[in-house]
Amino acid sequence: MATVRMAGGEITVGNVFCIGRNYAAHAVELGNAIETEEPMVFLKPTSSVLKVGEPLRLPAWSQDVHHEAELVLLIGRDARDIGPERALSVVAGYGIGLDLTARDVQAQAKQKGHPWTKSKGFPGAACISDFVPADDVAGASRFRFSLTVNGTVRQSGDTDLMLFPLPVLVSYLSRQYGLSAGDMIYTGTPAGVGPLQAGDCLLLTLDGLIEARFKVTE
Ligand code: ZN
Repeated sequence: MATVRMAGGEITVGNVFCIGRNYAAHAVELGNAIETEEPMVFLKPTSSVLKVGEPLRLPAWSQDVHHEAELVLLIGRDARDIGPERALSVVAGYGIGLDLTARDVQAQAKQKGHPWTKSKGFPGAACISDFVPADDVAGASRFRFSLTVNGTVRQSGDTDLMLFPLPVLVSYLSRQYGLSAGDMIYTGTPAGVGPLQAGDCLLLTLDGLIEARFKVTE
């Protein structure tokens, strides 16, 4: 059973929703179209969740596992068909995570028209920090975050640059799928994605609110 931590408590993870191509500069760097009609959504299995302190091993069947640093929302209560103006009221916490992606395997899947599950669903593919309670950031509508690898900043994110802002994402998911307490939403990655290798030390930071460290083990 996958769990995440917030304010000293453990919360059982429900669905793991992920948003693709939510920053124009990242869509462009991978040669993808910019989504304008509706958010592009995919899912990860809960067995892919990896918390701070757990060993991160890259799958042996990929030679090109990329980091995607993302702001992650934790849903606090069940929600169906909620409007954008009230959507953030169902968010219990804010965290920072990595949507790890086996880029070579994803490219094969894209070619074949197959789902992305193999490339984005392996154990450890959903790295996640502890969550900051939403009450602690009440009124905040903009978040900045970053990923540093071996001391070098690789990715910097700013939610103001999202194609589909947070309230729109939460509203959309509540209408299209329904949201449940314990669901997580990976909200998309900014530009700067790139490969990881054994020995890499990763530092994720979310607006001075929280940070998370992961080390890629041999
Ligand atoms: Zn992603």
